Amino acid sequence: MAKRAPPVAGPVEEIRIANRATYWPVAPVDLLVAAPLVARVLFRASPMGRRIVQAVTLGAYLGSVARDWRDRRKIRRIVFLREFGADLRHLVPMPREAREREVAVLAARLNDELVLERIPRREAAVAIERHLTDYVAGITGQRVRTSAEVRGFALVGLALPFALGACDVLSGDVAIFRDVGLLEPHIIAHEFSHRRGYWNELDAQVLAYQALVASGEPAFAQSALFERLYRNLRVLAGGDEAEFQRRLATAALRPELREPLGSLRPPAGRIAGRVDAGMRRVYDARMRVTGQNGISDYDEGFTNFLYTFETSATARQAPPPAGALHRRAPASP
Ligand SMILES: [Zn+2]
Repeated sequence: MAKRAPPVAGPVEEIRIANRATYWPVAPVDLLVAAPLVARVLFRASPMGRRIVQAVTLGAYLGSVARDWRDRRKIRRIVFLREFGADLRHLVPMPREAREREVAVLAARLNDELVLERIPRREAAVAIERHLTDYVAGITGQRVRTSAEVRGFALVGLALPFALGACDVLSGDVAIFRDVGLLEPHIIAHEFSHRRGYWNELDAQVLAYQALVASGEPAFAQSALFERLYRNLRVLAGGDEAEFQRRLATAALRPELREPLGSLRPPAGRIAGRVDAGMRRVYDARMRVTGQNGISDYDEGFTNFLYTFETSATARQAPPPAGALHRRAPASP
């Protein structure tokens, strides 16, 4: 039986992050972009009118951001290295054979346990927010509640053709750009992890995975395992799309599982392909300047983290059984 850290002593404290901007009918960043246009319609050529509309929009946005920032200051953050035996700087690279074994195990499990029932997005988002709250509270003793709003459209999606969803770091606003079927619960959980202040991509990947496999909800656990399979396949393919498709074919997944992964290919056409590659490079650079390892945190970092955690002899947390694929290393003598 793996040890589990005792819950933090004292009553569980509840913190609510207002996330007011996430309840606006339009994505807050889009509204900032659209404000000058709206003003032109309302006030014609009046420069004063335009400035007022812009100032009001910006004021509401910054007001929401400031409120969230104040709310988040009370959060006790998870110390990943202590709790999981791994963090951005402490990752054991998974041997290639172990990665290939993970793919085989995950494919077999997903085939056997396939859940096709889709929970509607709104309902899923509310449940996922609660599961994340529960999972994090089990570690920090603090229940951090956030908004469970998700939008289906934001202009930023047009600029990030490879992204499936995004979270505005300032307002916590979350948008899901594409219907990715069975992967959706994981994407929502990832973006909601950002919303509660875990800005690093690796941290968001890990918290989403653990909260979903611990949720007891088969459709959510499936989504997390599916993400892990997808990320392993990406690492094994080494950025080669044809190799990814070949590995996907040999993974012998049921069509309901194979098709959504097969459709996650980069945009077709030379220009779209170049825009995609260019945006990936910009995004990778942005991640590096914010102290992350780069875009590889989504797949290589994420899968190495899970491997490190599951085999760690020092982690205070035990991996939720529904999501663990490795045995913990014996305690050092
Ligand atoms: Zn993210």
